[in-house]
Amino acid sequence: MAEVESFKLDHTRVRAPYVRLAGRVLTPRGDVVEKYDLRLAQPNREALPTASLHTLEHLLASLLRDHLDGVIDLSPMGCRTGFYLTVLGPLSPERVLEAWEKALQGVLRAEEVPGASEKECGNYRDHDLEGAKAWARKALEEGLKVQESVYL
Ligand SMILES: [Zn+2]
Repeated sequence: MAEVESFKLDHTRVRAPYVRLAGRVLTPRGDVVEKYDLRLAQPNREALPTASLHTLEHLLASLLRDHLDGVIDLSPMGCRTGFYLTVLGPLSPERVLEAWEKALQGVLRAEEVPGASEKECGNYRDHDLEGAKAWARKALEEGLKVQESVYL
């Protein structure tokens, strides 16, 4: 089986909330594609409820693009502790942290969930704006950090 970066990360030695550079690929055409680990919940201690995670996904999809050029994708982690952000780089964890912080502040100001109708979303009933705000507030209060990769 192919190696997967996140399976080699020692999840007991990281401290959420954080930003971590999880991968960098140089394409044959010379583009740099980077993957960042945006972690909100401490692995194996806490996890976001699906509705809060889903609402954050909808809000951050736009808000991160407002503060960061080159966003390709933002996807929730299956373990529900954060998101993977894929960008056209090279950026830096510090630059991503700055944009993520502004995006989380934007979550606190949100009055509705974008794209949350039956036509726009695959599970439109599973949203929680107040829950999303609570997780954004918690991360901002605890303070976002840059996390180095600590491997097994
Ligand atoms: Zn959705």
